[in-house]
Amino acid sequence: MNSYDLIVIGSGPGGYATAATAAAMGRRVAIVERDLLGGTCLNRGCIPTKALCRSAEMALMMPKAQSLGVNIDGYSLDYSAAAERKNSVTDTLREGVATVLKDVEVLHGNARITSGDTIEVNGELYQARQIIIATGSRPATLNIPGAELAMDSDRMLSATTLPKSIAIIGGGVIGMEFASILNAFGVTVTVLEYCPEILPGFDEDVAKRLRMSLKRRGVSIVTGAAVTSITPGCTVNYTAKNKEKNIDAEMVLTAVGRRAVLPEGLDAAGVATDDRGYIITDEKMATTAPGIYAVGDVNGRCMLAHAATAQGRVALGLHQRLDVVPSAVFTTPECAMVGMTEQQCRDRGVAYRAGNAIYRANGKAIAMDEPDGMVKILVDEQSDKILGCHICGAHAADMVQEVAVAMSAGMGAGMLMATIHGHPTLSELIVDAVSKAMG
Ligand code: NAD
Repeated sequence: MNSYDLIVIGSGPGGYATAATAAAMGRRVAIVERDLLGGTCLNRGCIPTKALCRSAEMALMMPKAQSLGVNIDGYSLDYSAAAERKNSVTDTLREGVATVLKDVEVLHGNARITSGDTIEVNGELYQARQIIIATGSRPATLNIPGAELAMDSDRMLSATTLPKSIAIIGGGVIGMEFASILNAFGVTVTVLEYCPEILPGFDEDVAKRLRMSLKRRGVSIVTGAAVTSITPGCTVNYTAKNKEKNIDAEMVLTAVGRRAVLPEGLDAAGVATDDRGYIITDEKMATTAPGIYAVGDVNGRCMLAHAATAQGRVALGLHQRLDVVPSAVFTTPECAMVGMTEQQCRDRGVAYRAGNAIYRANGKAIAMDEPDGMVKILVDEQSDKILGCHICGAHAADMVQEVAVAMSAGMGAGMLMATIHGHPTLSELIVDAVSKAMG
């Protein structure tokens, strides 16, 4: 039998980064993948959508070009070219993953767990002292009549042409990213969101700002809408404010969350799942079966690529904090957050001070012609501990990282404020927001 120190199942950011790190530590490692290297993030998620977001950003910039002194005599949008570029971006990065895995044995096939320390791939058995399951997630399907008439994000990302109109069910992270991209490419977009506001879990002012911004771009957003069925011809039926309504669109996309993808053989190995179908793990990412660990979407702790990678380090026994996790939505404008929202502070009875700064008052933002945005910082009322940061505006995802580092290092708001921030930069907005919170 082939023996390893570690076998990783799944080559997304939870799997490949963990396998490569373990190999660099001198362990004998194998990784099993039945599809393309890179997992959802690289092939059907973060990276392809970000390539399309860039095309969308460019498309949105074009009408403003002349006012910035760049005359464009007639331009047109070509989604198939954007899709082709997206594919070349993912191809390039997939080669990068293969390089990262140079010291890891890559097994192509479906892994089935046969016991606590053995798996089977293509009829062969492989044994290891540690097995890490990193099999990820797939789009959830709606349990309503006609659900099969809708596309999911996987299929949407493989499209090379676009419909004239689309109804997006779900105004979460994926729904809003697609709404932003498709609107930029001229598609008539309607978003139907069940909750009272889009982006549940994000700061309410950030979500509202994004909703208003997308509305100004012509995206129709219906909140408090419970979709009940889809009928042939792509009519989406929903109830809102106790009234039955419907909209017609050429295409329907569902973005209503994701579900764990479980490898075969969990029962045989004694790996337990919870009632939502995620693998149960402890704080070391150990499952209920000795020697078997689970990281990333499959354990349902935090469905973000970087969280999966960090959990992989924990599974290897390396030092890694998991309590400060920045997250972002790559719409135009971008949204990002780290730490607690105001709602979470209220729910947990944490007294806080909030400070807001607006992009419109920032020199760099005005020079960039990006005046639409805000930064909000939450600081503990008793101490100067930073509780959270919420941004809607250009480069939000990059900016929030500064606050994540400060929070991770236990740096107080006073120290953040005392740090000189270069001028003119968007990061000055962070200092402005902190100083407003500090009064
Ligand atoms: P989500 O949970 O973020 O949002 C799903 C939305 O669908 C929710 O707002 C929910 O209220 C709504 N919904 C559910 N049923 C509905 C119905 N019948 N009618 C109307 N609305 C309905 O899920 P997602 O957007 O599919 O994303 C899945 C996961 O992937 C998330 O955990 C997300 O964090 C992660 N992800 C992250 C990024 C990123 O960080 N940029 C990008 C993509 C995905």
